[in-house]
Parts: sequence; structure tokens; C-alpha cells
Amino acid sequence: MKSLQLAEFGKPLQWAETETPVPKGKEVLLKVDACGVCHSDLHIWEGYYELGNDERMYIAERGVDLPLTLGHEVVGTVVQAGEDVTEVKKGDRRLIYPWVGCGECKYCRTDRMHMCLSPGSIGVFQDGGYSDYILIPHEQYLVDIDGLKPENACSYACAGLTAYSALKKMMPLEDDETMVIVGAGGLGLMAMQVVRELTSAKVIVIDVDNEKLKAAGELGNFTTINSKSENPVDRVMELTDGKGASAIVDFVNNQATSTAAFNMLQKNGIMVMVGLFGGKLTFSNPVATLKNLTIRGSYTGGLSELRELIDIVRDKKLKSIPVKTYKLDAADELLKKVKNGEITGRAVVAP
Ligand SMILES: [Zn+2]
Ligand SMILES: [Zn+2]
Repeated sequence: MKSLQLAEFGKPLQWAETETPVPKGKEVLLKVDACGVCHSDLHIWEGYYELGNDERMYIAERGVDLPLTLGHEVVGTVVQAGEDVTEVKKGDRRLIYPWVGCGECKYCRTDRMHMCLSPGSIGVFQDGGYSDYILIPHEQYLVDIDGLKPENACSYACAGLTAYSALKKMMPLEDDETMVIVGAGGLGLMAMQVVRELTSAKVIVIDVDNEKLKAAGELGNFTTINSKSENPVDRVMELTDGKGASAIVDFVNNQATSTAAFNMLQKNGIMVMVGLFGGKLTFSNPVATLKNLTIRGSYTGGLSELRELIDIVRDKKLKSIPVKTYKLDAADELLKKVKNGEITGRAVVAP
């Protein structure tokens, strides 16, 4: 099989030709149909996360070994299944749940593999979808996407699931409450696509890019704020008659956006931090107490949440976010575009 691998952090990806693996037991080998290019791929490629104040968290210290085939948003077609596989057969097309765990800890036993303390995430700790073939450790990680196009379905495994799980943490919301979505990139657009299945609350979308806000406007009835030209806190206060927002999901989550998010929260509000853009949030502790605030993080989501999401997308025929498909060769170029914020919606690669 031919894979595009990360051999050295920060250096161009390299083609590698290796023997195509033969699945054993519950393992499944799939031919890759489509693989989303995610912002996390960029962090892994760079080798670190910015923590704010010039501090960094290095990926190598978190157990990521090179060379590594990136890509964790993968749809593939089963070409061979191990002898114990019962749920899928050759020719079945499936979305891969990439947040693979050890299978034995309390998180893995309770549908929270994404919280496993010995994670084996695909495209992070084991080889992913920037390849023509991919080996999956267990058939349970394969999700039926019958009726969906591979290029539209692949990004539900990370961007879609992350957005969905973050939104669920803020529910329920009453119709007259206001929810704010910060960031109209891939994650934000996914959230906008599905939010109406969870609540009829008012939704405000904040971004710095008018083109992205326009894409947001086309997905639903959302009020948009360009935080480059307007103060987002003042504007949210104006739009909510001075009350502020009940729930905010921050898909950017840098110093500026998290500070603004904190300052626009109303009493009993919840703020869900999702983005990995670095920075530190400082706030007055008594405010958190007196306003009874919840500030929490949200990282990807569970396997059952991914199945739920796919059911919603299929049953409600949700409109896809803008997707553009490229040849796998373009991955390096696409990662640079992701870094510069030049992708509207999602870029997908196919071998
Ligand atoms: Zn585990
Ligand atoms: Zn991702």
C-alpha cells in the first residue's frame, strides 16, 4: 500500500510503500474512499500545541511515534475482514470511528473510548487515512453511512462529532435563550448544520471572515457578527437586551475568543471550550461563583454519539457543509491552507 507519511515533525509528508496488512481476528482492512483534512492534522504535523505565553505541548511527548500516516476522518470500503468479523463484509462502505481506545478501561467499557487513558486513535497513535488502505483494529469502530457520499460523510468522524458532542453538552436550551457559536470554520459549520435538531434557541455566529459568515448564513437562520469590525461582547449584549448568552461554544478558543466568551455569559451560563488555538483564559473567580457558571472542555465524542449524528444527518437529509476533494498528493499544500484559514468548509483527499 502507498501512504503519505509524517516522517519528521514540520517537514513535508513523504510517500512510503509498505506491505498491505492482512486483517486478523476482529480487524478489518478497508480501501480508503475519502479522508478529511482536519486542523488536528496540522497540529500533529507541526509537532506541538501552543499553550499561550510561548509555552508549547509537544506531540512527541504524548506518545505519538513517527513515521505516522495522518488522517482520522476516513470513509473506506471493506476489502478484507479478519476471521472473527461478523458485522461487515467485503464491499461494505463504512465511516471509521477514529477515537479508538484500549477496549478494557472504564471509559472504553462505557462508550467513552475517546477518553481512554491509553488511546490508540487512528491517524494519531496508529496509521490513518492519508493512504490507499487502512487497517482497523476492531469492526465495532465501523459506522454504516448508507445513502451518504464518502466525501461528505468522512468529516463527521471528527469535525462533525466534535461539534455535535459539544452542542449536546449545552442542552437543553429554551427557545428564548441565546446560544453563541464562535468560529465558522469546519467545526462551526458542522455545528450550524446540526444545531436545529437540538434546539430552537436563538443562535449567533461569530467569526472574523465575512466569507465564512456568509456560508453560515446559508446554513440557517443565524445572526452573524464579524468580531473584526464589531466588539462581539457589546453586540451580543445588544442582541440579548443586556442579558448575555446562556451557552457559548468556542471552536477557536484562543485568548481573545475565550475572554470574550466568558464576558458575554449570562447567569447560569455554560461555556464549552473546543478549539486548540492556544492562549490562556484569565477571569475573576468571584464572577464564576456569583454567576453560577460552567466552564468546560469538550474533546471529540463517543461512538454512540457518532451513530446518532449519522442517523440525524441521514434522516433529516441535512445539507452538507462545502466540501472540495483533492488528490492525496495535495495534502501538504492543504495543511498550509488550513493553517492560513484559507479553507471554507472541508478539504478532503482521496487516493
Ligand atoms: Zn480504554
Ligand atoms: Zn480532527
